Amino acid sequence: MTIIHIIQVPIPYPVKWVNCYYFEDSIPTLIDTGLNLPECYESLVEGIRNSGGAASGLRRVVATHGHMDHAGLAGKLRDLSGAEILVHADDQTKLLTDKETIESKIAAFDRILLETGCPEEKRAEALEPLSERFSTFMSHAAECVPLNGGESIQFDDFNLRVLHTPGHSPGSTCLLNEANGDLFSGDSLIDELYVDPSSSMEPLSTHLASLDMLVHLPVRRVYPGHGSSYANFKNRIKRIRQYHDRRTAKVKEILQNSEAPQSPYAIASRLFGVEQGIDLLWAVSSVRFHLERLESIGEAVRISAGNSAYNYVPAVANS
Ligand SMILES: [Zn+2]
Ligand SMILES: [Zn+2]
Repeated sequence: MTIIHIIQVPIPYPVKWVNCYYFEDSIPTLIDTGLNLPECYESLVEGIRNSGGAASGLRRVVATHGHMDHAGLAGKLRDLSGAEILVHADDQTKLLTDKETIESKIAAFDRILLETGCPEEKRAEALEPLSERFSTFMSHAAECVPLNGGESIQFDDFNLRVLHTPGHSPGSTCLLNEANGDLFSGDSLIDELYVDPSSSMEPLSTHLASLDMLVHLPVRRVYPGHGSSYANFKNRIKRIRQYHDRRTAKVKEILQNSEAPQSPYAIASRLFGVEQGIDLLWAVSSVRFHLERLESIGEAVRISAGNSAYNYVPAVANS
């Protein structure tokens, strides 16, 4: 018989906890792991023990996506137990911590900051902590089992269907128990859109398309990566859409009320105040997604600002 245990692992992020789900089953399985930090590891190991299992007995570790708070301990748990790691193919490089991968991630972040018009000293300040974060919060895990969406992960009493829900990250997934409607959603249903800036996709429209796909599924209860489980799934999706629509409208308003062309950085500064360090990265990325959305619906135009940076102006209606 399969019993699911929720283990709340503390993380040093504003959300405070990540939910890890331990499946007591003839194939002991964990969904999501917490960061590769001693306090996360100890809390997770203790949680599995309190659930009647042992971290060393894990056979499968499924990461809903490749972010460090969800997959950070996957490599370490595999070293301990020999468990296989399942993660979507599009997020697999996030589990690598070799020098070359980290350098290319940081270069991608730097490119975003440059393109979005961040002043040089702000860029340096935002990038400074990244190298250490990337190499300590994640344990290296090459050769994971790639998921592509559509797979069925089998347990003694049910199966979980893998749903590819890109947007939050390119390889974000949800896992659906089609028999009872339980959905393990990772970060695919959080309000704010934190995304890997190096991805080639247009994250906001991709995210909204994933929500459109999810909303039609027979979901009874959602087990998210952060926060409590909840039942009113369709309402949550509606709220997330409204949240993004409001922010797109706000970005549009700032653009329309500006005399000069605006960089994403300038708009982010007005929208969020002056952000610093890693928050700056999220702030300019967020504004960039909304500007891309406005551009794709013909409401804004992107113009070059030189040195690979760009600005936006409102689209002029043709009469
Ligand atoms: Zn995430
Ligand atoms: Zn998360």
